[in-house]
Amino acid sequence: MRAVVFKATREVAVEDVPDARVERDDDVVVRVTSSALCGTDLHMYDGRTGAAPGTVLGHEGLGIVEDVGRAVHRVQRGDRVVLPAHIYCGVCFNCARGDSAACLRVHPGHVGGAYAMPGMGPFRGSQAELVRVPFADANCVVLPGAPGDEHEDDFVLIADAWVTGWHATELAGVRAADSVVVFGAGAVGLLAAYSALLRGASEVYSVDLIDERLDKAAELGFVPVDVRQGDPVEQIRELRRARPGTRLPGEEEMGGVMAGIDAVGFQARDRRHPDREDPRQVINDLARLVNPTGRLGIAGVFTTTDAAPAPEGGHADGALQVPWAALFNKGVTVGFGRTHDRRYTTHLRDLIISGRARPSQIVTHYESLENAPSIYDRFDRRVDGIVKAVFHH
Ligand SMILES: [Zn+2]
Ligand SMILES: [Zn+2]
Repeated sequence: MRAVVFKATREVAVEDVPDARVERDDDVVVRVTSSALCGTDLHMYDGRTGAAPGTVLGHEGLGIVEDVGRAVHRVQRGDRVVLPAHIYCGVCFNCARGDSAACLRVHPGHVGGAYAMPGMGPFRGSQAELVRVPFADANCVVLPGAPGDEHEDDFVLIADAWVTGWHATELAGVRAADSVVVFGAGAVGLLAAYSALLRGASEVYSVDLIDERLDKAAELGFVPVDVRQGDPVEQIRELRRARPGTRLPGEEEMGGVMAGIDAVGFQARDRRHPDREDPRQVINDLARLVNPTGRLGIAGVFTTTDAAPAPEGGHADGALQVPWAALFNKGVTVGFGRTHDRRYTTHLRDLIISGRARPSQIVTHYESLENAPSIYDRFDRRVDGIVKAVFHH
């Protein structure tokens, strides 16, 4: 089968590799119809997370079940399925509580597993013609319709980008009428902001420094905030001061936002020197901007093994200095971590089917799998206006 293979830092190739096949009785093999390129793929591409050369990349796959192990009961040959990025068994201590990102069986000796991520198990990725799905009864979300229909690009975003964005709004406890800020207007950030609107937020601010992303944020109904125009915390406080309407006593003290989301992670840019990274930048901004009693959701990736930590503020094991006291004194709730796909995938599928949600509005580029080296390069260099690229296989 053809597959996108990590070769070396900033080098991928499309190569022939051994076909994915049923290895255990509870596996299926899926013929991939669409897969998506994710910012997390760039953590490997950039040589930050120690991916092994030869790794088949991709953790956002949609396709048709082609082969079924003998112990699989819920999924049949010919089913259309989306494959959540974080693999889980469905029945262990954590999965039974809905904490599927912390599955205790999928990668023995570790917490959680995923396709094509260093440290997350031996699972090959879905930027390939075929992909093996372990614990298939748990890890296949069955979908209506047929490949290439009007929901092809919506459904592929359930694999990771939208569930991660939705999870961020859960971590940040976004409720009706909340004021919300999302740092980062890449795919996950935009879909976190989109989820906040679906949950009834009254104001959603989307912070970034790339024109096409800010344009997309505005198109989707968020207030774009360009960090190149100055401190985003001050910009948002100013925008909120200018709102019409009556105020409750003391409301002027609540000029920040009630819920904040980090959709950037450890590769945050240092605002004073945008060519440099400072992994503390976003958390510092969020701590300044969040209101007393507010809530934060940290959905951007932080890695415990950074091969090239930022000279200022970075740390090879991810131990960062954060404004703990400011968060304590404001009584802020902070949620962290990977998305528990099991909780959200079928709900998000149903929002698509009912017509209430069209997450595919964030997709800007379509590519063939054979073009992977070019789109990885352009996405990595943040050129060409790429917000989200989908491979149509
Ligand atoms: Zn992803
Ligand atoms: Zn489990």
